[in-house]
Amino acid sequence: MHLETARLSTLAERIEWVRQTIANAARRAGRNPDDVTLVAVSKTVSAEQILAATELGIHHFGENRVQEAEKKIIALADRLPSDVTWHLVGHLQSNKARTAMAIFAMIESVDSLRLATVLSRLAVERGTPASILLEVNVAGEASKFGFTPTALPNVLPAILSLPMLEVRGLMTVAPAADNPEEVRPVFRHLRELRNALNTSLPNVHLRELSMGMTNDFPVAIEEGATIVRVGRAIFGERSA
Ligand SMILES: *Cc1c(COP(=O)(O)O)cnc(C)c1O
Repeated sequence: MHLETARLSTLAERIEWVRQTIANAARRAGRNPDDVTLVAVSKTVSAEQILAATELGIHHFGENRVQEAEKKIIALADRLPSDVTWHLVGHLQSNKARTAMAIFAMIESVDSLRLATVLSRLAVERGTPASILLEVNVAGEASKFGFTPTALPNVLPAILSLPMLEVRGLMTVAPAADNPEEVRPVFRHLRELRNALNTSLPNVHLRELSMGMTNDFPVAIEEGATIVRVGRAIFGERSA
């Protein structure tokens, strides 16, 4: 956690700090701050805290477990503003895909052709397209899910041919690092991979780059992140 955010005690102050930090990073990179979407990662955070964040203008929430998200959404029911959207940022098992599609506006963690195929089939069944990102394991860590940067170009045409699947871009989780500069090459690699795919494959328009978390989101924005997924800097350290 950044020292600065640890000192900020209220949710309002922390959200304001994250907003300012996003805007400053965007300006450093000559980008428009409005081109960066803030997803507040609310895993382990209570439904009441989520509601409080919506009152401070947060519209997008990220969860990594389908059942946890479902419980909170049911608990908040009609108290949530209608413009709130949920992003799935954790690994999705096929047997939870049906529930996930009912809950999440975007599934950021599509990490196999098999899962993409299941989502496509369910989207056809529902008659609603599924909006997805493809997760890339840029650093090739054994502990992480995702396509390798070398496998993705080969598998992408098959994914793009699936009906009712809107592939909006790429997502990655950078390795843990003491200094965020250490993971700058990971973010740069994801951007270059997206650009290369957009140029080499016809009819590919991957726009989104979901990258950057509490420890490294300013660097990710400098490298082109269009979505940052920030948990602890907003809600505080997780006990669980
Ligand atoms: C937990 C999580 C985040 C947020 O991490 P923080 O360090 O709390 O900002 C972002 N992305 C994914 C995939 C996560 O699991």
